[in-house]
Amino acid sequence: MLVRSVSWDRTVDVVVIGYGCAGPVAAITAAENGAEVLVLEKQPKETHHTNTSMAGGSFITPTDAKGALDFMRALCRITGGQGISWTGDSVLRSFAEYSATNLEWIEARGGSAFLSPGPVDYLHLPGADSLPKHRFKGLGVGLVKFLDGQVQVRKIPVLYQTRATHLLTNGRGRVIGVEAQTLQDGQNRKLRIGASRGVVLAPGGFEYDEQAKLQFLKVYPTYSSGSEANTGDGLRMAVEVGAQLWHMHCLSAYLMFKFPDFPIAFAPDYRGRQQLRYAKGDEAVPIVSGHIIVDGDGKRFTSENLNIHGIYYELPYFDSHRLIYPRVPSYLIFDRRRLENGPLPSVTVGPAGAARLYQWSADNSKEVERGWIKTANSIRGLTAKIGVPADNLDRTVKNFNRYCLKGHDPEFGRKQANLIALENPPYCAMQLWPGAPATMGGPQRNAKGQILGADGSPIPGLYGCGELGCIYGMLYPGNGGHLAQCFTSGRIAGENVIRERVPNYRRR
Ligand SMILES: Cc1cc2nc3c(=O)[nH]c(=O)nc-3n(C[C@H](O)[C@H](O)[C@H](O)COP(=O)(O)OP(=O)(O)OC[C@H]3O[C@@H](n4cnc5c(N)ncnc54)[C@H](O)[C@@H]3O)c2cc1C
Repeated sequence: MLVRSVSWDRTVDVVVIGYGCAGPVAAITAAENGAEVLVLEKQPKETHHTNTSMAGGSFITPTDAKGALDFMRALCRITGGQGISWTGDSVLRSFAEYSATNLEWIEARGGSAFLSPGPVDYLHLPGADSLPKHRFKGLGVGLVKFLDGQVQVRKIPVLYQTRATHLLTNGRGRVIGVEAQTLQDGQNRKLRIGASRGVVLAPGGFEYDEQAKLQFLKVYPTYSSGSEANTGDGLRMAVEVGAQLWHMHCLSAYLMFKFPDFPIAFAPDYRGRQQLRYAKGDEAVPIVSGHIIVDGDGKRFTSENLNIHGIYYELPYFDSHRLIYPRVPSYLIFDRRRLENGPLPSVTVGPAGAARLYQWSADNSKEVERGWIKTANSIRGLTAKIGVPADNLDRTVKNFNRYCLKGHDPEFGRKQANLIALENPPYCAMQLWPGAPATMGGPQRNAKGQILGADGSPIPGLYGCGELGCIYGMLYPGNGGHLAQCFTSGRIAGENVIRERVPNYRRR
């Protein structure tokens, strides 16, 4: 928003918008470089929860920057696109270099994270073996505690209940401050805060902006297992000052459980009690319960050896004759063995995880009662409850059970170890929706974290970091990709914003 003359309520060197992971990292970095920093956070302190606090706290920690760069180049190359990349090489290079030193950055400030098993998602890509990951003790909550401690030690003020609404620009298009709505002493008030060096935009993604999801994502609805505060404010602020958008239909592309009477989606846990051991690297842990995924016609459409951060892209199949998306929703079909094998969603991350926004019952009984899990004593009985054609689902399950007996899935090549027949009633179904822990799209940034305008040149005084406009294109590297880039981009934005200065800036 252009302001010809403005009287500031307060001025600082750097204003950071958003207090998740990237925001505090940028604030800490700018403060360490001598800047006076102010953080704006729209949520109240007492109930503050973010994608960061709901996360698993893992972040990829490349052992060598060259391997990481090779991997990122391959990951971002568009299939069939003759060498075209989602993300420019200089941005990938800066990510590779900085992410290789993120752990050092954390440890130098007293943080600690442990080596976490599990590789990146695309092992066949070059450089994949140079991207191990680390995990914060206490998961996302532990990470937030660490960052908050660092912000407090540096006495960086965080204004809670203060929602940034507009970026303010001068006549030359330079971002010189932020307009915000703040709640103080029960009163809503407009604040104008000047930023003599620049503004860092770190308000997270647009997982709860229905309009943006409808207009930009490949299929609607798409649900999130993260914070409801991510309402796309950053998108609107950036567009208003002429930012170029990128990666808009890309996300860490999941299937999710979502129920009408709870606002946040849940990430499925397909393994049950074995998941924890499996996540700790015990590949030999047996799978004890079977499940299949079917579409609204009661037919399987994918191997259930899911690529969990890519399966979303199989959902926007549109039937142009019936004018429906038959895979939206899809259904997870399982039997007593999975029902009795621990909570159906992850109880590590998301609303039922460490953030404790929902207490999922250990035996799933509460959720059966709520109608979130449908059960019946026969497959045909189940179809009556979920509205899937009975003959189709019955045939699909009979075929699947036959494949289990033979140890071979001729349709989708499911791994032999996962071929466990569905034969123990009650049979169960849960809706699976397109979803994502995080969106990727937002304002495009360059290797210095500067947000670019429509003509491709940096908008002076405006930096971006974190999930909003993040560096990944369609493919996500796997667990740990987002937080690695939050640290990386926060550090880069914090280092570069302090090199700016608005000419003739008058402080009050
Ligand atoms: C369930 C789950 C598990 C995940 N697990 C992992 C994992 O293990 N590893 C990994 O790498 N990634 C993981 N992710 C993704 C990762 O957590 C996020 O991408 C990352 O935390 C985003 O951080 P951020 O700083 O960009 O934004 P956020 O953490 O989303 O924080 C944004 C902040 O900005 C505030 N805000 C928004 N609008 C405004 C405004 N207008 N004014 C002021 N403040 C505003 C919000 O209230 C919020 O506090 C997971 C995500 C989820 C949901």
